[in-house]
Amino acid sequence: MKKFFNKVAAKLRAGLGLAPAPAVDCDCPTGFDVLHDEAQNKSTAFTREERGEHGLRGLLPYKVSTQEEQKNRVLENLRRKTSDIEKYIDLTNLQDRNERLFYYTAMSDIEEIMPLIYTPTVGEACQKFSHIFAKPRGFYITPEDRGHIREMMDNWKQDDVRVIVITDGERILGLGDLGANGMGIPIGKLSLYTVCGGIDPDKCMPVMFDIGTNNEKLRNDPLYLGYPHERLKGPAYDALMQEFVDAVKDRFPKALIQFEDFKTENAFRLLSKYRDYVTCFNDDIQGTAAVALAGILASERLTGHALKDERIMFLGAGSAATGIADLIVKALQEKGLSEEEARKRISLVDSKGLVTKGREKIEDNKKPFAQDHTSATLMEAMNDIRPTILIGATGVANTFTKEVVETMSALNERPVIFALSNPTSHAECTAQQAYEWSKGKAIFASGSPFDPVEYNGQTFKPGQGNNAYIFPGMGLGINLSESVKVTDNMFLAAARALASQVTDEDLKSGTLYPPLKNIREVSAKIATEVIVQAGDDNVFVVPQPPNCEDYVKKHMYDPSYGPEAAMPAPKPDTTPQQQPKPG
Ligand code: NAD
Repeated sequence: MKKFFNKVAAKLRAGLGLAPAPAVDCDCPTGFDVLHDEAQNKSTAFTREERGEHGLRGLLPYKVSTQEEQKNRVLENLRRKTSDIEKYIDLTNLQDRNERLFYYTAMSDIEEIMPLIYTPTVGEACQKFSHIFAKPRGFYITPEDRGHIREMMDNWKQDDVRVIVITDGERILGLGDLGANGMGIPIGKLSLYTVCGGIDPDKCMPVMFDIGTNNEKLRNDPLYLGYPHERLKGPAYDALMQEFVDAVKDRFPKALIQFEDFKTENAFRLLSKYRDYVTCFNDDIQGTAAVALAGILASERLTGHALKDERIMFLGAGSAATGIADLIVKALQEKGLSEEEARKRISLVDSKGLVTKGREKIEDNKKPFAQDHTSATLMEAMNDIRPTILIGATGVANTFTKEVVETMSALNERPVIFALSNPTSHAECTAQQAYEWSKGKAIFASGSPFDPVEYNGQTFKPGQGNNAYIFPGMGLGINLSESVKVTDNMFLAAARALASQVTDEDLKSGTLYPPLKNIREVSAKIATEVIVQAGDDNVFVVPQPPNCEDYVKKHMYDPSYGPEAAMPAPKPDTTPQQQPKPG
């Protein structure tokens, strides 16, 4: 269009004997541009009028499809693929081609699509990231960018970024150090922010903090796309992260930063350093905590227990386990227990056995849960402490053996067993094993999805303690209230909101979570409670509106073609709180 306009203008001026004018730099997109802009493209759904208007005549087949027909075409092709990674690639291509159709399709069948765009398939997609890479998406920072991050952020096309997911790729799911290949995680997670929480994809920014990898195999892979050096560590790492956070505060002041899949030590350190400095949270720690707590609260309707009477044992004592443990302590304190009493309800067993006070060196996140007991192994600890709830967050498969499940079943009429490790192949035990070994008594939830299990004539539908139940609603609530901080109370509110949406029917079928197909409704409810809590904790900028839930729903992204729901919240009418610089 631009070229055509300049050509016509030049001809006219020459005809009139005028000197050539400078070329007009008009941004009007050509039909070709429109078809190749994933945000605008509707492909065969462009109407006759639109085809004329945008210069699309001749560029599309005759039939004007509806979005529903397009979705059916996508699903037909998708279902023909024989492996999940091929389906992942297919969906990624669709996202790159026609964003609204991608989200429309994902929202139409969340249960089928979510495992393909996130866990478990995203694990394999990350492992193969550098080999299946087709089109850049997201923002990459390497040590060579030191001193330039703020200026680089001007290259980002959108000005109103509201959610950033960042990883340094060091602990991707349960798969370890995948370096820059870990970019699949922020991309996938942000897709879920949109699918489940209705955050406008234009306001999402996946970030790879690519400071190298200690995975030698990757570094030696000629197709590896990341910074091919050993990981940056210590003060240089911290300085680069500080530069990134400050650049975000300056360029995208309303953005929530979600830290994702950092190694435990960095995960806790970054969270405590930045939680009062910028709007941020760590999903592995806090999101997992809220989803697990919601599962525990729902399980009490089956066990008849009260939270304060539970004895909760963790296998694994990393980000996920101690994050959950910390939030349970907060929930118990709400119920009137002192912090010390609350901590006594929790025990951690890691790769060295029960975390006890006598241990020589205890990491900071484990210290508050160190026990006086002397038992060493998981089995000894179980027999000593007699847990009512057992939660696995080790990243290691088969750590809940037959003996472990049988012991839990002997100790409890309805043992609560969560095998949270991802991907599916790393789960501490399978759903089948949990139901069979407990003779159908287990109240089971997992991190990755398992198919329903038939046992003794009964069908058990295991619940997936998927973080996607929490973070999209959290993000939406934080965005709409423009919270300057993310408080623990907001996660408690999210956990309660999630647990309250589990129906008796869900519980009867064996699941502790609402069906995934209801996730947008669930996220809207969570966002509503988060907004209310942000008000109570005085961390909001935009006050809670009347009819909050309707307001939330009205602001959720709608991928259908036509006038879209707008994300920006109403103008702030209070002043943001000042946040201190982290020490
Ligand atoms: P992490 O590396 O921080 O922690 C792992 C912990 O497990 C460490 O304390 C380690 O000592 C311990 N461990 C390892 N092998 C063990 C063994 N054989 N016996 C006992 N302890 C052992 O990892 P993380 O972030 O805490 O995540 C752990 C797992 O939880 C991962 O697989 C992750 O995918 C999963 N996860 C699930 C959810 C969810 O389901 N919603 C959320 C977050 C993390």
